[in-house]
Amino acid sequence: MSATLPRTAPKERSGQAARHGNYIDGEWVPAASGKTFENRNPADRNDLVGVFADSGPEDVEKAVAAAREAFKRWRAVPAPKRGEILYRAAEIMVRRKEEFSRDMTREMGKVLAETRGDVQECIDMTYYMAGEGRRQFGQTTPSELANKFQMSVRMPVGVAGLITPWNFPMAIPSWKMTPALILGNTVVVKPATDTPLSVVNLINALQEAGLPRGVVNMVTGGGTAVGAPLMNHEHVGIVSFTGSTTVGRIVSEACAPKFKHCHLEMGGKNIIMVMDDAKLDLAVDGAVWGGFGTTGQRCTAASRVAVHKAVYKEFMDRFVERTKSLKVGNGLADDVQMGPCVNESQRATVEKYVGIAKSEGAKLMTGGNRLASGDHERGFFHEPTIFGDCSAQMRIAQEEVFGPVVSVIPVGSLEEAIEVGNSVEYGLSASIYTQDINKAFTAMREMYTGIFYVNAPTIGAETHLPFGGTKNTGNGHREASVAALDVFSEWKSIYIDYSGHLQRAQIDTGE
Ligand code: NAD
Repeated sequence: MSATLPRTAPKERSGQAARHGNYIDGEWVPAASGKTFENRNPADRNDLVGVFADSGPEDVEKAVAAAREAFKRWRAVPAPKRGEILYRAAEIMVRRKEEFSRDMTREMGKVLAETRGDVQECIDMTYYMAGEGRRQFGQTTPSELANKFQMSVRMPVGVAGLITPWNFPMAIPSWKMTPALILGNTVVVKPATDTPLSVVNLINALQEAGLPRGVVNMVTGGGTAVGAPLMNHEHVGIVSFTGSTTVGRIVSEACAPKFKHCHLEMGGKNIIMVMDDAKLDLAVDGAVWGGFGTTGQRCTAASRVAVHKAVYKEFMDRFVERTKSLKVGNGLADDVQMGPCVNESQRATVEKYVGIAKSEGAKLMTGGNRLASGDHERGFFHEPTIFGDCSAQMRIAQEEVFGPVVSVIPVGSLEEAIEVGNSVEYGLSASIYTQDINKAFTAMREMYTGIFYVNAPTIGAETHLPFGGTKNTGNGHREASVAALDVFSEWKSIYIDYSGHLQRAQIDTGE
């Protein structure tokens, strides 16, 4: 069926910008209302990346109906065959990696090396989940009764509603989409309004790989106009959301009355702990990459650094020097190391927190200002910013800023660093720099986070280990790896009695 469909999203030209519709039942279609919104480059507002469908509940309705219909067929396709489509999609993405990476840098600003990493993560996840077509292991166990066989198998949930953020615009949709698909679910995805093009690119790869119509659908538009009707839809069996804790709570409350499966990946306030025996250059490298990679707009960003007082000054001097030398600009340029904030509102949040930090008495070590002249005039740039002498309880050290701002907290011991580390409402990622294996293992055990690193920053997750966090970062599920299969499937335990007579478990177990 897919052979009759157009192979790529139609790219009608409106001036310089391509127009992209919703993807519903294998067709690229405009929003029912005919409304559109613009997607502009945050490094250069004059650069119109594309025009997208500004959709509403009626578009969601059509997409869910298509996904529901397709589910009847897709769940019956043998999982290894589903896997073959994913393998082909991954191959297509390998071929188009550079194009997709450039599109992503244009639409959300992070530097090309990082958007290549984002596309690669999507490729890795797609290969990984394609392999699950031949695994999806269940259990066989001995029965307590004679002549009885038993096993457990996974079954798909149905239609999966996926709501995704803008900071990993291909990787995160793939973390949700590929496990959902390999298990036999069908999908309606709502990308963040800042980054719909990367999801269009992912869908184009799946379409070209031969994914049947209706199996994946995409509806672009705002959170309340599209996300809310999607998560509330009676025929959406599982909602998988990545975004802020504030919106995650709304999603959770919407799903609760219907006992709908709900998977949440939310905010973070991650910490690097630098001990007095750490290799300081290594720790500084980690703090710069962890704090300012993706302009600090990663859920795993190292927005706090706890440094032992014995090495505090030396660490801070080197950290400030390295940060001052970062080149900020358009991520498409080879020499740029940090891009813009994703939009004006995100930059305003950064500025608000800079003001809060100053008023709380944190010491501004470098940065602290928007960059708005010369090459930076048309973008949402902000200087990489470090605050020193922070206390663990300051708002700048407690709340997620989601921008290029790092708070450095002096500590007197490993125990204090751990206490500071665990003192926030989030529990995503933490790391320690030390040469002492005892300290490393102690911190590894004591930090109540979903991810932990030794002698590496708080970022750098790989696709084949569980990804997610504790406390207000998540709701007990994990993305990626085999753990993601649990989100998008239900277990069925099956008992086959071939004794020919009634056998009662727990009762007929004697001689
Ligand atoms: P956001 O919560 O503003 O938006 C996330 C998605 O939810 C978007 O698609 C948005 O349109 C949609 N949405 C907004 N309001 C909605 C509503 N009322 N109903 C339904 N959907 C709605 O988050 P963001 O600004 O896109 O992303 C930044 C946040 O994401 C940060 O807090 C970051 O820590 C978090 N994040 C977490 C992870 C993780 O794995 N833990 C990964 C990346 C980002």
